[in-house]
Amino acid sequence: MQVPLLDLKAQYAKIKKDILKAIEEVLDSQICILGPKVEELEKKVAAISDCKFAVGVSSGTDAILASLMSLGIGVGDEVITTPFTFFATAGCIARVGARPVFVDIDPKTYNINPALIKKAVTRKTKAIMPVHLYGQMADMDPIMDIAKKHNLYVIEDAAQSISSTYKGKKAGSIGTCGCFSFFPSKNLGGIGDSGMTVTNDEKLAAKIKKMRHHGQGSTYYYDFVGGNFRLDPIQAAALLVKLPYLNEWSEGRRKNAEYYNKKFAGTSVKTPYINPDCVTIYNQYVIRVPKRDELAEHLKRNGIGCAIYYPMPLHLQKCFEYLGYKQGDFPEAEKAANEVLALPVYPELTDQMKNYVVEEVLRAAS
Ligand SMILES: *Cc1c(COP(=O)(O)O)cnc(C)c1O
Repeated sequence: MQVPLLDLKAQYAKIKKDILKAIEEVLDSQICILGPKVEELEKKVAAISDCKFAVGVSSGTDAILASLMSLGIGVGDEVITTPFTFFATAGCIARVGARPVFVDIDPKTYNINPALIKKAVTRKTKAIMPVHLYGQMADMDPIMDIAKKHNLYVIEDAAQSISSTYKGKKAGSIGTCGCFSFFPSKNLGGIGDSGMTVTNDEKLAAKIKKMRHHGQGSTYYYDFVGGNFRLDPIQAAALLVKLPYLNEWSEGRRKNAEYYNKKFAGTSVKTPYINPDCVTIYNQYVIRVPKRDELAEHLKRNGIGCAIYYPMPLHLQKCFEYLGYKQGDFPEAEKAANEVLALPVYPELTDQMKNYVVEEVLRAAS
């Protein structure tokens, strides 16, 4: 049996007609830059995120980049974040000329460990960028406490966690702003690159709107140097078709996760820990096993898709050598990088498929 890590064709088959119709509408209108589809998506994503404002941008990466630029973070500044995340989190911090300052993760949730943030704050710190990894939000209360005490911005990298909650609060609504990615493999995925920043700060929203259009104030007059970070209306149109299914799809993932959790209980497979304060959307279902590479090999040989998010923590990446970190600096992130493995959890999985995944995992892992 073949069980891919993610099967976007299965999702597309159900909504193909609506997607094609939505694309046709955009083409017929010939409004090919921004326009009503982008505005409608912004309103709806702001609403489901309990935020007043949303600005559609070209990718999750650009959501982070435009947010940092709009908050005036740059050369000489420091931004505290996790080394156990997708590259873009720290990549954007470095791109604006600021210094990514890493602190280790909580080994249970894989999210930034708030207890370690305080020691990393210096006079240069401007922001904290927690990442809501795999669909579960970081422990936001202590993060917000530190931010308030030191007058820091909090930029939530919520690329993997749209609509997930922490103490009933939506991802992106707690910090200064939140950044979503609509990369096709995210829970709400476009038909290409796209992203969005949400915020309750009206001034910041207005600035990001300008930032995505080269910092233009009025036509051909520029208030500051921005970029072309605009959200494509064809992406917005496709996302508007998918948005009504987001909760149902996330619920499907949670059900699949529960199924795995039950089957793996009492075995050597460590299942995901979900903070009781959180509702996760399981962008990934990540298990932990000591002999991870052997298991991954076994699964691949048997037609089961799996992946390592992420095999090398960011403090050890070649491009960040200049930051001066070394092996052993963040032991929990380094250990997780050697032991985590994401299994197929997408909502269209059948019982047979799930059963097969469980059988093969247990055959190799026990
Ligand atoms: C996907 C992702 C991003 C970047 O999003 P893109 O849309 O691919 O640019 C940033 N941070 C995290 C944690 C992500 O998972």
